[in-house]
Amino acid sequence: MDIIKILPKHVSNQIAAGEVIQRPASAVKEMLENSLDAGCTEIKLIIKNAGKKLIQVVDNGCGMSKSDVKKCFIRHATSKIENAQDLFNITTMGFRGEAMSSIAAIAQVEINTKLTNQETGTYLRNEGGKIYELKESSTTNGTSIKVKNIFYNVPARRNFLKSENVEMRHITEEFTKIALANPNIKMQLFHDSKELFHLPISNFKKRIINLFGNKKNESLVPVSEETSIIELSGFIGKPETAKKTRGEQYFFVNGRYIKHHYLQHAVVKAFEDLIPSKYYPSHFINLKINPKLIDINIHPTKHEIKFEDEKAIYAIIRATIKRSLGIFNIAPSLDFSKENAFELDFKNIENTNFKQPTIKIDKNYNPFDHKKNNDQNKTQNKLDVNTNPLFDDINLSENLNVPFQIGNQFIVIAIKDGIKIIHQRRAHKRILFEYYTNSLKHKNGKSQKLLFPKSIELNLKEISLVENLKKELKSLGFIFKLKKQNMEISAMPAECREDNIQEILEEILHQAQNDIEIEINQTQKIAKSLANSLAISNSKQLKIEEINSLYNELLKCKVSNICPSGKSIIKNFKIEDLKKYF
Ligand code: ADP
Ligand code: MG
Repeated sequence: MDIIKILPKHVSNQIAAGEVIQRPASAVKEMLENSLDAGCTEIKLIIKNAGKKLIQVVDNGCGMSKSDVKKCFIRHATSKIENAQDLFNITTMGFRGEAMSSIAAIAQVEINTKLTNQETGTYLRNEGGKIYELKESSTTNGTSIKVKNIFYNVPARRNFLKSENVEMRHITEEFTKIALANPNIKMQLFHDSKELFHLPISNFKKRIINLFGNKKNESLVPVSEETSIIELSGFIGKPETAKKTRGEQYFFVNGRYIKHHYLQHAVVKAFEDLIPSKYYPSHFINLKINPKLIDINIHPTKHEIKFEDEKAIYAIIRATIKRSLGIFNIAPSLDFSKENAFELDFKNIENTNFKQPTIKIDKNYNPFDHKKNNDQNKTQNKLDVNTNPLFDDINLSENLNVPFQIGNQFIVIAIKDGIKIIHQRRAHKRILFEYYTNSLKHKNGKSQKLLFPKSIELNLKEISLVENLKKELKSLGFIFKLKKQNMEISAMPAECREDNIQEILEEILHQAQNDIEIEINQTQKIAKSLANSLAISNSKQLKIEEINSLYNELLKCKVSNICPSGKSIIKNFKIEDLKKYF
């Protein structure tokens, strides 16, 4: 008996849709790209309920004719390539002809569009891939596409969408990538009637600042290089602004955002020794290359591309950034970019006190100690193991010895049958971790009021993270107000230092964002971040009282042998072991 059937079109389209449209943000990306390909100069992105209810893109591009509007929903229908040869010379964002058919298969779509030279336009309504209405309409030049109730007919997918905060973060990220790649296009983003971004036509630098806030202005260093295979331009962030949060790492190739681990590595290498490990330098780099020398066909969402000469491009990126960092180190206040919007006021320059440039240096970082650096790099998400307290064998009343410090980093204590060596920073981390876990549980973190409220500038992604963590931050002792791109802090946990606060918050946000999708166990992550930020260093001389207090507090911990990052706090040396040395 024959058992093979050809799937009906609407089913095969739904399956194909799964590849192209994973979440509202994927539809946003495809629709924005179509507007760009339509040659528009203005795009409005209107979102309701993080895209679950509505994603609307309005552009002033070329528009579509009545028969093209109908055709655009057919799979592999595209106006952008004609034959296989064209695949090797792609200059448009789209070319696979899959997005519109995929979107229409899983949503209710309304299009209103008009060709520039026509009097009237076309209105079309499509649900789940079927056209329900097609009529003449009076509309402006360009195209407006509404995508409503995404995945309404694929409940399994709709139910698996994340919280509105998470979905909106993904949408904002897609918007940001396209906005960065196209500063020559006016772009706006509205969410639930609130305008989140208003980006006028500008140059690349201003676009970055409009997206990430004014504070970026001082920290951007220009990079540029022209070679026979590639043209490189853009900006890198100064070393001291490197963050623990990944996120401001952007590569664009011929105006298309790409993810490329190998090239990413070239940037990190260029910053080697200037920033501590686990910090990520921000970069906004445009690469222009002959389209014949790249293959953008290897991934359905076209985020990943292949270069013919990757090694040479790696070397160019690394060398160009290194050179710019060199110039920056010698003359940090000079910015040779030609943009005049942020030029220094030369008339007042003589009266200005110039600040010496500062560079954040990890004092514990030894570039020659690869083993140690690799250890430091390992992710710290291991669960606590071996929760038996190691101090069981200490009989405190018998133990008349006092702990003392060696090498400004270890605490040594003699016990009945040997010695214990305690790693001071890890011990302190454990103590703080348990303290903050408790504060978060009982919502009783001690707070200290700041004399003057401290304003910390955050980008939109960070603001939404802070919103997610509001409850936890308050439990710890933070009191703050969120403004458009600012967090105004009026009180902070009693143990924090004011000059440290930005770093502490960055660490918390970094940890929280590490698992953007996993919204569990934020408490542990935050407690860990605070412990990491506030624990004493590995080279701090401690007073006798401090040694005693650290030792006694460690004894009180539920788990005293493993620090929150999963590393050992204590090593035992039994007398038997010591004998072996003699
Ligand atoms: P692709 O972009 O790969 O060609 P899509 O499925 O994204 O495929 O779009 C199909 C076609 O619909 C495009 O080739 C284009 O002709 C038309 N189209 C889609 N969106 C727009 C728009 N905003 N303005 C003008 N034409 C559009
Ligand atoms: Mg497209």
